[in-house]
Amino acid sequence: MIGNEAPSPLETKSSPTAREIPMGLIIEVQKIPPAGMRISGTLGPDELDLECEGVTMAGGLAYDLSVEVVSGELIVRGRLRMPLELICSRCLSVFETEISVDRYSFSQAVKELEIIDLTANLREDIIVALPIKPLCAQKCKGICAYCGKDLNLERCSCAPGSGDARWSALEELKLPPENKE
Ligand SMILES: [Zn+2]
Ligand SMILES: [Zn+2]
Repeated sequence: MIGNEAPSPLETKSSPTAREIPMGLIIEVQKIPPAGMRISGTLGPDELDLECEGVTMAGGLAYDLSVEVVSGELIVRGRLRMPLELICSRCLSVFETEISVDRYSFSQAVKELEIIDLTANLREDIIVALPIKPLCAQKCKGICAYCGKDLNLERCSCAPGSGDARWSALEELKLPPENKE
């Protein structure tokens, strides 16, 4: 490991509403103007550190939030977006998708000098928004239970006559030969 603790002079992110936040999303209550404020930006994958089985972060968490203090209560509302790689529950392939939370909200009683770290709460909301059964496509055909072939890529011959009535029903559907995207 190389000791590299000098502040980088190359940090020139200058999005007008985004604040320079080194780790996580930190809100300093005293910096919130009476009329509230809007913050937007991106939390890097290592800041969010989303550790979830079968989930790979494919980018940062983009947030666009309104922040205000009303009667001693911090209220944060807004939208979250995050690109992720998930594993299809049918065909087990890895696919990229975007998780969005359109109505993120957070509230907590705060004191004037308090500093609130929203990172854990954002992480939780992304986890809650994850699909229980991720699908690479609504029409994903999954893998053959007998030969293990990915039926999105090829058809297999073990389906007919294998004794499972569901298979013959599927055969009768006569799927179009070309079913690629
Ligand atoms: Zn699939
Ligand atoms: Zn098969």
